[in-house]
Amino acid sequence: MIDTQSIENLKTRLDIVDVVGSYLELKKNGANWKCVCPFHDDSNPSLVVSPSKQIYHCFSCGAGGDSIKFVMEYEKLSYPETIEKLASMYNFSLSYTSNDGKTHEDRKLLENINIFFKKTLDNRPTATEYIKNRGIGEASVEKFELGYAPSSQENLNFLSSHGYTISEAIETGIAGVGENGRNYARFIERITFPIYSLNGKMVGFGGRTITGHNAKYVNSPQTKIFNKLNII
Ligand SMILES: [Zn+2]
Repeated sequence: MIDTQSIENLKTRLDIVDVVGSYLELKKNGANWKCVCPFHDDSNPSLVVSPSKQIYHCFSCGAGGDSIKFVMEYEKLSYPETIEKLASMYNFSLSYTSNDGKTHEDRKLLENINIFFKKTLDNRPTATEYIKNRGIGEASVEKFELGYAPSSQENLNFLSSHGYTISEAIETGIAGVGENGRNYARFIERITFPIYSLNGKMVGFGGRTITGHNAKYVNSPQTKIFNKLNII
């Protein structure tokens, strides 16, 4: 979780005129600012931003609140996602309670294995051939960060050689435990692409088989950081 004190510190830095002004064109109106309201079909600027009260209010549709509420509604983000978004806008570094430090580590694992998948793609001719045959150009490979997940053992070797435990790999959805109790990598011989949350954080992977594995596509399972409902 984001440390509540650090949210309070961030709040003191927020300026409603700055925040709304970073999304919409504001016009000075006496002591306040005005703009076209993004929350209803507005042609006459009816959204008023008050620097003294640090709020916005639409006189037509009634939308209103503080900087956080504005970003939440405008970007359709959850509260913690909004706080992270604002923190990055203000170059403010949030502190996290221990549990979320864990989330941070989980993300690091995903980012590292994404780098590994991307590197592996470059030296697997079968995979690069496959991509070429599907008519996917280099620009798309780069844009979608396509990679290649090799054999289960190679995945697990990569993780252990980078100091990750199997429970961390399971927690992030990169590995699973089979019925026989043996660990396996979830993405095997698949073209991979990372999945990002709305606020731009890597949360999991999608993968398409190129060697005829049963499931044509697999996605990361639901994990602490990959909440599928929040992504769509
Ligand atoms: Zn409105």
